[in-house]
Amino acid sequence: MYYNSTRNSGVKITAAEAIVQGISLDGGLFLPCKIPALSMEKIAGLGDIRYSKRAAFIFSKYLTDFTEEEIRYCTESAYNDKSFDSENIVEMENIAEGVYLLELWRGPTCAFKDMALQILPYLLSVSAKKININKEIVILTATSGDTGKAALDGFKDVDGTKIIVFYPDEGVSAIQKLQMTTQDGDNVAVCGVRGNFDDCQSGVKALFTDLEVNKLLEEKGMVFSSANSINWGRLLPQIVYYVSSYALLVKNGDIKAGEKINIAVPTGNFGNILAAYLAMEMGIPVNKFICASNKNNVLTDFIKTGVYDKNREFFTTLSPSMDILISSNLERLLYIMCGRDDTLVKEWFDKLAKDGRYEVTDTLKAKLAESFYGGFCDDEQTKETIKEIYDKYSYTLDTHTAAAVRVYEDYKAETGDCLKTVIASTASPYKFGNSVIEAITSEPLPAATDEFAVIDKLFKLSGMSVPQSLSELKNKKVRFDTVIGKDELQAYVFKTINS
Ligand SMILES: *Cc1c(COP(=O)(O)O)cnc(C)c1O
Repeated sequence: MYYNSTRNSGVKITAAEAIVQGISLDGGLFLPCKIPALSMEKIAGLGDIRYSKRAAFIFSKYLTDFTEEEIRYCTESAYNDKSFDSENIVEMENIAEGVYLLELWRGPTCAFKDMALQILPYLLSVSAKKININKEIVILTATSGDTGKAALDGFKDVDGTKIIVFYPDEGVSAIQKLQMTTQDGDNVAVCGVRGNFDDCQSGVKALFTDLEVNKLLEEKGMVFSSANSINWGRLLPQIVYYVSSYALLVKNGDIKAGEKINIAVPTGNFGNILAAYLAMEMGIPVNKFICASNKNNVLTDFIKTGVYDKNREFFTTLSPSMDILISSNLERLLYIMCGRDDTLVKEWFDKLAKDGRYEVTDTLKAKLAESFYGGFCDDEQTKETIKEIYDKYSYTLDTHTAAAVRVYEDYKAETGDCLKTVIASTASPYKFGNSVIEAITSEPLPAATDEFAVIDKLFKLSGMSVPQSLSELKNKKVRFDTVIGKDELQAYVFKTINS
């Protein structure tokens, strides 16, 4: 199995090379040259084995340059009940008739990013060894809140790696900030940026493809890699839980093998929903992908009109991990949907870089509308939905998952489609406690309520056990308090590397 770049189909590299490199030098993203297909029988059979084995099976179709042992080493090291507080790794809650919440936040940092970032360090170190990279790998990460912590937790003290995380100083929740700034480990650095997530992401992306920076790193015996969802090693693990959830629905008799389902995903950088799409390409039958955004609804407009236009106001919302105007992984979807026409993709993304806008062809618009439904939900509706689900089903949603539930409800009301639906539940409500409590009680918390009082209060309201990693934050010291301007990322990276 070889990997191409979305901006140059002539690129032909192995999985290990794609994982180490992260992003193609032409600015494109790596994708396998062909999505491997599984029979329905194979898919249904996955319901009978444990999660790590399902992952190993799916990985074996994509990582053909890895040995069976290497794959097993990665999947067993990552998906076990020491890191995850559920031995199933992922839980599925049937909250209402035909509606299943896929709880992807049982990992150490309480957001779905752990599903990929617990395993990425293993994939990366095996890959580096395989292609004889003896350099120190510098993981550079931009985060809207959850990726940063999940990456720090995955990479801390991993030999041969350093990790540097940039987050928007005023764009993450109090708990998220504390999770990152108290990070332990000798190979970690965390830095706030005066700007939004897109500023962090653009800054990081520019460093990756900057030839001069890369040359300097080479002199130091180092090489950049990425833990953002542009890395294939981030996406692949996410395909597993969609295939897995389908297999479990079949096994539990909730659906018949071959029956179509809908999948709803609270979307930011488009990684999670793209993984669902790839799961469909592998063989799980999907009717519609319901793409939920918050008030930063660039994707909703894109799905409805075929025009991607990031020239609009940026909003800071209650669902910060979706506060994104440039959804990087959309590039991969478009590449697949337009028949892997690299010239066309390059043209669109050059336009995006230059004018902040592009429009896809009519054929592609029609294809998009066939598979995707786009909708969005503002902060008021997010809160309403948290309250509604809490009152009706005694279930507490986080702000991101609430957006997906709301857009799914809109979809259902609009179309009358009653197919069974899996909704990705992407974070524990404890990560966004203030907003969740205000939604449930309909009144603001006193301004001085500290993070831990919030956790206690949410425990009383929800009855959900408090994740240990969050209650432990109370005893941790802040180690990183640097905040920089959005043009200072390069300087920070060099300072960190030289120290
Ligand atoms: C990252 C994140 C999202 C968005 O996922 P993408 O793969 O970037 O679309 C949604 N919800 C939460 C809680 C997240 O951390």
